[in-house]
Amino acid sequence: MPLVVQKYGGTSVADPDRIRRVARRVARTRRARNDVIVVVSAMGSSTDDLISLAHEVSSDPPAREMDMLLTAGERISMALLAMALHSEGVPALSLTGSQAGILTDASHGEAKITEIRGTRVREGLEKGNVVIVAGFQGVDPTSKDVTTLGRGGSDATAVALASAHGADVCEIYTDVMGVYTADPRVVPEARRLETVSFDEMLELAAGGAGVLMARSVEVGRRFNVPIHVRSSFVEDEGTWVKESTMEEAIIRGVAHDTSEAKATIWGVPDRPGVAAALFETLAGARINIDMIVQNVGQDGSTDISFTVPQSQARAARRAAAPLVKELGARDLAVDTDIAKVSLVGAGMKSSPGVAARVFRALADASINIEMISTSPIRISCVVRRGSVDGAVRALHAEFDPPVITEEVGANG
Ligand code: ADP
Ligand code: ASP
Ligand code: MG
Repeated sequence: MPLVVQKYGGTSVADPDRIRRVARRVARTRRARNDVIVVVSAMGSSTDDLISLAHEVSSDPPAREMDMLLTAGERISMALLAMALHSEGVPALSLTGSQAGILTDASHGEAKITEIRGTRVREGLEKGNVVIVAGFQGVDPTSKDVTTLGRGGSDATAVALASAHGADVCEIYTDVMGVYTADPRVVPEARRLETVSFDEMLELAAGGAGVLMARSVEVGRRFNVPIHVRSSFVEDEGTWVKESTMEEAIIRGVAHDTSEAKATIWGVPDRPGVAAALFETLAGARINIDMIVQNVGQDGSTDISFTVPQSQARAARRAAAPLVKELGARDLAVDTDIAKVSLVGAGMKSSPGVAARVFRALADASINIEMISTSPIRISCVVRRGSVDGAVRALHAEFDPPVITEEVGANG
């Protein structure tokens, strides 16, 4: 029997009505003679609510206890969905990440999946159940503690389960009709993409297109699991994320991210080993660095800026401060009022002038660029937080990313 993995995000299971609706959809898939593994997120904004609750009782909640708390969110929705399926006459079994054999490393709050032991899920399916797995969580086999995979982690659970169990497709059901050329909340005229390659989707997701967690796309790419992003509210075509198509659009879309902060160290000595010492220190504190810019040295000193997740800004400052002193640098400043806008498209690598058009479009919208970084298929700029929506609209209007309606393949 074909095996389908379906993941339903927080909005899709936000209240009892929506859970019953999801149950009906799962039941239809099951009755169409598929084995079904369902991954669920916590209901609505309950993960955010749990995080706020934690900060009401502690200014610095221990990471282990935070994971104990947050895993409860997905546990509620998995059990409720199992009950709703029983009411539909469909046998269902809910499992925590740990029960589903999802083993991770020990990094609480951002654990990576290291192995999936499939026995329990397989037995559940063999007995005729729909198996429901709590998203976003696993267990560290050494400490036996539960872990969480990072925000949006249910996507990673779903794609990893699809890969481990050899599913034909991983369906991600969410509150939009697929992957768009920009966040439809910011650009109402953004268009749905029919297909997008793993590489492009990875850049879009890493650039802040939260419709998929970047790590889930990485897993999909590594194990070649096609990901089908669809609306849980309307029947539609959705977007296929899969191996690159033969057609390469110059531009696929625009992504933006308001979750980062910029740190700048002014007046660092301009000599070998300084950048190494700084970024070794930050790596030792497990800080995730995104963009890095170092200016040309002048009079023996230079400035280094880098971006980090806002949630790690305090930790980055704490880690870097002693080194800043030791190096005799002038100052360390952290700016949280920034945002990043990225233009993504596999065709830009062979199409000159894209960067110039990006900078011109932002200039014409009177938007100042503070940092720039590129990959062969992406150009990202850091701008003031207040101008990011304008930046996204300006780039979307400039490039008007085309929707690819047909692959140029054997017939074309
Ligand atoms: P879920 O709870 O289902 O996981 P998310 O909120 O994580 O849903 O992701 C869906 C949201 O992603 C959409 O509501 C949309 O605002 C946002 N988004 C950002 N960029 C894009 C994009 N390029 N295409 C579609 N949605 C996007
Ligand atoms: N509930 C978690 C979050 O809000 C995981 C997820 O929804 O994917 O980040
Ligand atoms: Mg999500």
